[in-house]
Amino acid sequence: MFGLKKPTDTREHTPSYYAATANNATRYPRLEGSISTDVVVVGGGFSGVNTALELAQRGYQVVLLEANRIGWGATGRNGGQVIGGIGHGHERFRRHVGQAGIQAMYDMGVECVDIIRDRVSQYKIDCDLTMGYMDVALKPSHMRDFEEEKQHMEDMGYNHQLELLDNHQVRDEVGSEIYLGGLLDRTGNGHCHVLNLCLGEAAAATSHGVQVFEQTRVLKLQQGAQPIAHTEKGQVNAKHIVLCGNAYLGNLAPKINRRILPANSSVVTTKALTGEQLHALIPNNLAICDPRTALDYYRLTADGRLLFGGLSNYTGREPNNLFDTMQHKIVKVFPQLKGVELEHGWSGQMGIGMNRMPQLGRLNGNVYYMQAYAGHGVAPTHMMARITAEMIAGQAERFDIFAKIPHWPFPGGQLLRTPSFALAMMYYKLKDELF
Ligand SMILES: Cc1cc2nc3c(=O)[nH]c(=O)nc-3n(C[C@H](O)[C@H](O)[C@H](O)COP(=O)(O)OP(=O)(O)OC[C@H]3O[C@@H](n4cnc5c(N)ncnc54)[C@H](O)[C@@H]3O)c2cc1C
Repeated sequence: MFGLKKPTDTREHTPSYYAATANNATRYPRLEGSISTDVVVVGGGFSGVNTALELAQRGYQVVLLEANRIGWGATGRNGGQVIGGIGHGHERFRRHVGQAGIQAMYDMGVECVDIIRDRVSQYKIDCDLTMGYMDVALKPSHMRDFEEEKQHMEDMGYNHQLELLDNHQVRDEVGSEIYLGGLLDRTGNGHCHVLNLCLGEAAAATSHGVQVFEQTRVLKLQQGAQPIAHTEKGQVNAKHIVLCGNAYLGNLAPKINRRILPANSSVVTTKALTGEQLHALIPNNLAICDPRTALDYYRLTADGRLLFGGLSNYTGREPNNLFDTMQHKIVKVFPQLKGVELEHGWSGQMGIGMNRMPQLGRLNGNVYYMQAYAGHGVAPTHMMARITAEMIAGQAERFDIFAKIPHWPFPGGQLLRTPSFALAMMYYKLKDELF
């Protein structure tokens, strides 16, 4: 029998494959007392840790405040797929950002993966980073989309080779009969142990002088020329504040909170499989994803498990029967794994915006924010962190491109926005089944 282990202290990492195999047990202190700094960053996921690191590399004094543990949120719980590209449907924003803006967003979609590669090599971060990724098609329209996508990427100057695979070739890469083909990128995208990546990046940030505090929730912001972040037992006086709490930020900044919905996604890992089983599933160790709204995403782990994720619901809550639900999903893709034992299972929340583009901007002169990467944030967070650091350092060009993209609050207010979004998503799920 297996069941979900609930954390005894919600301020510790959620029990997961990542938490069980984290290779850095550094504990950072809680903030007690009053300190001053150039920039205070709120939230210790990829967005916050990388903002702190980028700023410290530019010579700023930085304090990073995390309510729980570094990597506690979506960052330390996700599917580990390192995928380039920032947001979707850039053409919709041509009148806001122009051709140069569209090209810049595309280029940043490539740079964001390079940042991760550079971090791993510069700071020797042990996080199983492996290149190789494939989108898989479940119906003919997916294949048509992949053809268009390949052409578009090539027209924009993508510097990695993309291969379109037919229904025979796709079986050489994934041991499942359900796919009609795939779009394979052997070198541009990949996967990694995300909690170890984030912990390594936090260690890198501290090596540049960033002061990190864990289990230190920001309870109130005092905005203005000299903003202050108030915590339970202290406060940080700063020149700038950067909010990186994403789906977990809650009402600390209601204006940006209204622009996202926290959606739940869940991940499980099997017990370690044999070398033969692993080879039969994904012989070239790719990360794999399908294009549906309620998609499957999966990969192998460095210690020989299948890690399988799916967007389970849009209410922000974890399903009660997580292992049963996920086992059903796994067997649909890999019937040969019927009865396979699952060992870890967990869920996390991601911030989803209405237009499926990351949101970043300025709230009030010197308060900045970034959020809403939906299920595609591992690499893009690194880019948003870099351009926010550029902005604070006086280079507004790349920040302004994203800041020009319009975002709207979800209709329905606090009470109704979740049910209305759940309904909209049901519609898209149904559309996925029909067309
Ligand atoms: C289950 C799941 C699977 C996913 N799979 C993938 C994937 O395979 N590939 C991909 O690219 N993306 C994936 N994503 C999305 C990706 O994980 C996120 O977009 C990304 O990690 C967001 O990082 P973040 O730093 O912005 O937010 P988070 O990682 O959520 O971090 C926010 C942090 O802010 C802290 N915080 C909030 N409020 C306060 C406060 N008041 N004071 C102090 N701290 C505060 C929280 O404790 C939290 O640690 C997935 C997401 C989930 C949930």
